[in-house]
Amino acid sequence: MGSLTASSDPPVQPSLWPWRLQIAVHTPAHSALGDLLDYVAQEALPAGTLVRVPLGRNEVLGVVWGCQAVPECGPDVAQGIDASALKPIIAPLEGLTPLSAAWRDLIAFSARYYRHALGEVALSALPPQLRKLSAAQLQRRFNRSAHRSEKRRADRDPAPPPAAPAQPAAVRVQLSAQQADALERFEREDGPFLLFGATGSGKTEVYLRAVERLLERDAQAQALVMVPEINLTPQLEARFQERFGADAVVSQHSGMTDPQRLRSWLAAHSGQARIVLGTRLAVFASMPRLALIVVDEEHDPSYKQQDGARYSARDLAIWRARREGAKVLLGSATPSLESWHNSRPPSTLGALDPGGRYRRLPMPERVAEAAWPALRLIDMNQQPAHTLIAPALLQAIQACIGRGEQSMALLNRRGYAPVLACADCNWKSECPHCSAYRVFHKVDRTLRCHHCGYTERVPRACPQCGNPDIAPLGRGTERIEEHLAQLLAPLQRPGGGAVRIARIDADTTRRQGALQSQLASVHAGEVDVLIGTQMIAKGHDFRRITLVAALNLDGALYSSDFRASERLFALLMQAAGRAGRDAAWLAEQGSRAQMVIQTHHPQHRLFAALRAHDYPAFAQDQLEERRAAGMPPFTFQALLCAHARTQEAAQGFLQAVGDATQALPAAARVTRYPAVPMMIQRIANIERAQMLVESPSRAALQAWLAQCQPLLHALRRAPAGKGVIRWLIDVDPQAI
Ligand code: ADP
Ligand code: ZN
Ligand code: ZN
Repeated sequence: MGSLTASSDPPVQPSLWPWRLQIAVHTPAHSALGDLLDYVAQEALPAGTLVRVPLGRNEVLGVVWGCQAVPECGPDVAQGIDASALKPIIAPLEGLTPLSAAWRDLIAFSARYYRHALGEVALSALPPQLRKLSAAQLQRRFNRSAHRSEKRRADRDPAPPPAAPAQPAAVRVQLSAQQADALERFEREDGPFLLFGATGSGKTEVYLRAVERLLERDAQAQALVMVPEINLTPQLEARFQERFGADAVVSQHSGMTDPQRLRSWLAAHSGQARIVLGTRLAVFASMPRLALIVVDEEHDPSYKQQDGARYSARDLAIWRARREGAKVLLGSATPSLESWHNSRPPSTLGALDPGGRYRRLPMPERVAEAAWPALRLIDMNQQPAHTLIAPALLQAIQACIGRGEQSMALLNRRGYAPVLACADCNWKSECPHCSAYRVFHKVDRTLRCHHCGYTERVPRACPQCGNPDIAPLGRGTERIEEHLAQLLAPLQRPGGGAVRIARIDADTTRRQGALQSQLASVHAGEVDVLIGTQMIAKGHDFRRITLVAALNLDGALYSSDFRASERLFALLMQAAGRAGRDAAWLAEQGSRAQMVIQTHHPQHRLFAALRAHDYPAFAQDQLEERRAAGMPPFTFQALLCAHARTQEAAQGFLQAVGDATQALPAAARVTRYPAVPMMIQRIANIERAQMLVESPSRAALQAWLAQCQPLLHALRRAPAGKGVIRWLIDVDPQAI
């Protein structure tokens, strides 16, 4: 493995290379190399400088983390490093300001907290083209970008700075009293803040004003606005650009092309872009004048990066804001229980609980007094078995269509049916590579594994017994679409013509721009009934939807994942928020918004809270349960996961690690559970196992993880690691 280390021949004259640098580079995962590699250079380079360095046979990008003078004569004995054996760097990237100390601290914190190599975190936080392009190519890009901003400045002078509102004052809405209150407290108090605002309460307007005031106050300040999935909220991007001008706003998300990402990264890094709008990866945006971070829909699970270098962008946003002295505003109608708990008011029963460290800013009312949709539960136990759409729901949809209103039906599965089965011999459409069923997609008559992608044409007959009568079990979006089309076929729209049904899910939106055009046709009123997965429940400001139906979401009510009901509640509240958003129009129609849920458990407490639109009641209920059971946020968790050829190897490795940790000083304050198969035990022929560790103290858990990590490295190479393909640590896991 000698080729991986930075030191090798030919030796160089120490006097030629008087500076020693510690540089973060992306070393191969789990290589035994330390976090930083040593190089030498002719001139001193400030920390944060981007450099090209040799690594093995390659030339890679690195970030300077430290720089010292090499003692004049020979090896640096004190450091135990012989500078004459180190390789020189190739060259710094010219024309780029070094990354700030605050940025480097954020990277270092993220690496430490989530137990990843510093270089991996640092390099994956930079735009891919910085790594891929040659020095000459990059130089051209930098020049072009500098030229552009120069030109912009010249064009604009002496016009107002880019932060000036582009929107004429006349168009601006009058803030509601609760919006004004929330903003006023946000300005006056210290954060972090949790804007607890119902869907449609005008949270986005509060974000816009908070950013606007900041930019007006400080001619250089920058704001970072994070959203869970940017392609689901194109309206938000438009609203920011409209308010602040297209030049002041850049986006950062993984749906952008590499050149777009580089351009927007440079604009933020140079301070020219005043607002960065992005998904979780934007939490690492280089923003030298960062003064405000907004995290919209802060409860959304997509803030947690689930592979590679895992992190929670929401939690890092809090850390980053504190480090940089920026304000941070989390917003949600259904906050995560963590943030809810962190923003609890001080206990009124004496001095027992000083309250959380976040400030809660409530906005309970929807703007324009839009009423909440009335909730109607349909008890599926009272329906014939295998009913897909109960008659009462069908009537409600028909009535909607009759009034020229839109409705939507939400379910959690795409495809036609989750399983295809033979009633004679019990064959089921299992994936040969995963411990999961392949989903039946009728559109192209395939069986597709949603975990490994393995796809086959649907067999004509049962592959096991030859029975030609294999049947779908359960339902997905395709099947509901087909079924509704049959049920609604006899119906005419008020203006004449057949009822128009559309489906939006991961299958219909694969093509670039497909989602946007589908959403646009819903907005344009070209759709009467919209069917889809949770994609359709998020954030969209649909003006003509008055009925929201939820089908088949019961699984989450009694799931083994303790966060499932929190998620379901958030999803249903969010879905409910899609109905009746235009109060004036609704009144004109003489109609009202409704939500219909088909369930086998109508008595479940979650529905009572949903009916009352009472998130605080739901949260209190959940928090009491969590406290009693010692679950987050009252305890802190991490998962050790192992992937191996066999389940025994994966579990055996984790068990060996667990046994070895017993002697660790930090072991006393953590609880370790036995290694078990993961929920989906096998994916693409790789067996997966996990071991949960938890502690009431975050610091104790962190100490334990820090001590455990060397054991993982060591045991991986020992007999206990035989057959193990990889291991990973997931701190604050989202699913267990
Ligand atoms: P949220 O983000 O809380 O769901 P939005 O900010 O999207 O809510 O606001 C919902 C709708 O109400 C939007 O169409 C928005 O333009 C409008 N709106 C927001 N604030 C006001 C206000 N003060 N007066 C009138 N309309 C408003
Ligand atoms: Zn069969
Ligand atoms: Zn599979």
